[in-house]
Amino acid sequence: DAAINRIAAGEVVERPASAVKELVENALDAGAGRIEVSYGVGGKTLIRVTDDGCGIAADDLPLALSRHATSKIDGSDLLDIHTFGFRGEALPSLGAVGRLKITSRAQGHDAASITVEGGQMSAVKPAALGGGTIVELRDLFYATPARLKFMRTDRAEAQAITDVVKRLAMAEPFVGFTLRDLTNGGEGRVTFRADPESGDLFDALHGRLARILGAEFADNALRIDATREGLHLTGYAALPTYSRGSAVAQYLFVNGRPVKDKLLVGALRGAYFDFLSRDRHPAAALFIECDPHLVDVNVHPAKSEVRFRDPGLARGLIVSALRHALAEAGH
Ligand code: ADP
Ligand code: MG
Repeated sequence: DAAINRIAAGEVVERPASAVKELVENALDAGAGRIEVSYGVGGKTLIRVTDDGCGIAADDLPLALSRHATSKIDGSDLLDIHTFGFRGEALPSLGAVGRLKITSRAQGHDAASITVEGGQMSAVKPAALGGGTIVELRDLFYATPARLKFMRTDRAEAQAITDVVKRLAMAEPFVGFTLRDLTNGGEGRVTFRADPESGDLFDALHGRLARILGAEFADNALRIDATREGLHLTGYAALPTYSRGSAVAQYLFVNGRPVKDKLLVGALRGAYFDFLSRDRHPAAALFIECDPHLVDVNVHPAKSEVRFRDPGLARGLIVSALRHALAEAGH
């Protein structure tokens, strides 16, 4: 079982940022209103995610660490997924590749903690915690030197963590996020912070955009709101003058999940084709919502690619909605 966990871990956890992604998604699935992510040395020595979500009852802690144990789906309809997690793979995988400690308190239960090292689970112990969950992952890949080698510089790994947190923060504007670099000890340094946004979804998204991409971007972004045959596209897209030299300012989501999908990136590029040179990338935050049966998010455990039943429809919607918005703005 430990070996299976280690093999699966390679798919789920490629680097510190993938561990952060899994842990923040768990916090979001738990209904957290505020999430704090701390890391040390690019996440190589420490990743800690603290949330104020529903918590895990002491008796359920060993279960949460067991392979394919998920509280999120009953298995009847793999396509109809409304949570980020559904495989029950992340925690056992993290326990196989680092020193994992979970401290949690569910309402009506006492706080408790459990640790896993080298795939070995400790007993559940009493702990002190007001509510929510703290998951700590130390010394990622300490037992697998071959994987340690593949990690990039501390700076690059910290950048990847920041990118993951910002993407999830864009997806969930009503949730507050804090990112803290603990490398130099003490209270650490807050490197990103976004308080929970308020108002309707467009207000909240606009506020979050300003936080993540800057007020100038947000104030000059075109509001997108279009529907075609069951696909809904909403969000903001920048005027061509706000394009970037790389694709870092492209935030794409399908049914609430951040994706980095070639089809969608290509559609975005296509919409701006007449206005941007090859080395410029449009900036946008776009959300596609549709019936879960029209799209498969189950392509890879990292879950950042999607497969539309009708790819042409998704592409056409993005290209036409953005071109229309650009034309209205005088382009
Ligand atoms: P999945 O997210 O696919 O269900 P995970 O291995 O990520 O699988 O988590 C296993 C289970 O542990 C979850 O189904 C959930 O019940 C519980 N869990 C994990 N993280 C948290 C958290 N931050 N708050 C509450 N419950 C959690
Ligand atoms: Mg999960």
